[in-house]
Amino acid sequence: MATRFCVAMSLRGEGAAWPRNGARRGGVAAATGHATRLFGGGPKSKTRRGEATAFGVSMIRVNYHLHSTYSADGKGAMPEMCQAAIGAGFTEVCFTEHLDFDRQDKDYGFFDYAAYSAGIEEARAAYAGRLTIRKGLEFDFRRAYGTEVGEVLAPMEFDFVLGSVHSAAGYAIYRLPDGVPAELDVRELLAEYFAEVEALAASGWCHAIGHLDYVYKQVPALVTPQRDAWYWCQVERILRRCIAGGVAIEVNTRHMHLRGLGMAADGEILKRYRTLGGRLLTAGTDAHRPSDIADGVAEAEKAIREAGFTAVTGYERGRPYAVPLDA
Ligand SMILES: [Zn+2]
Ligand SMILES: [Zn+2]
Repeated sequence: MATRFCVAMSLRGEGAAWPRNGARRGGVAAATGHATRLFGGGPKSKTRRGEATAFGVSMIRVNYHLHSTYSADGKGAMPEMCQAAIGAGFTEVCFTEHLDFDRQDKDYGFFDYAAYSAGIEEARAAYAGRLTIRKGLEFDFRRAYGTEVGEVLAPMEFDFVLGSVHSAAGYAIYRLPDGVPAELDVRELLAEYFAEVEALAASGWCHAIGHLDYVYKQVPALVTPQRDAWYWCQVERILRRCIAGGVAIEVNTRHMHLRGLGMAADGEILKRYRTLGGRLLTAGTDAHRPSDIADGVAEAEKAIREAGFTAVTGYERGRPYAVPLDA
């Protein structure tokens, strides 16, 4: 019955493996090219076949969601995170430090673009030949921020920009694992969350949507019963918008083992994305400390493969390239 909320969309670009024109508004490093460096032309993400790692002979070799102490809640300095990544078998990482816009947030104003840029350059020099290091960002999105996000991003340059919704309907979704308010209406929260994400997908400010669906990730037991026709209608509308706009989605595995959280996007969303024509898919552990660097990677790879993907996506100066899982 709730399917009446579905809105038919024209699917411009649906089915295209890679964005024909991924240009971004708002000064984000533009994916101005066409299909770039497909399969094999990417960075040094080579897997030596049969090489044993802590996770077996095969794993995703790139990690596109990491925080260091350039984020207010990061617990590992960038060199420590790089060292941990190498130790876990990653050949390419993308730091995605937090950029917050909520003035009530104690972390507001923490992000220092100049210091972060210098840190990236130092790390690239220190780990040259051992680890490809991408300069990324994770900005917090709410419609209430208006045009401020685009204005702040405009003078900055990144390889990869992740947009994430962390709050909706007045709830801090990241706090839900610590305790769900008695008055919480999960359906209402989901509706507001999806409305925020849809606006984010249309904003032109990010290359990828972080952890879709974040509510599911944080409280999977509460959301699972909500996964009915209405729910999938909301999700697929967002996925279609992403595909049409050349916006990737992310597989985020933060705290899957440490706190028993869900994966986002999870296997079911990945399958629907693939079926709808989605091909741009990033993967990251969202680690905030070295010991978390590879939490959930095996589960991510399993879900990605089961959904039919044979590669994940990396970004250099906004341009996507495929990183084959079996390279
Ligand atoms: Zn996030
Ligand atoms: Zn993050």
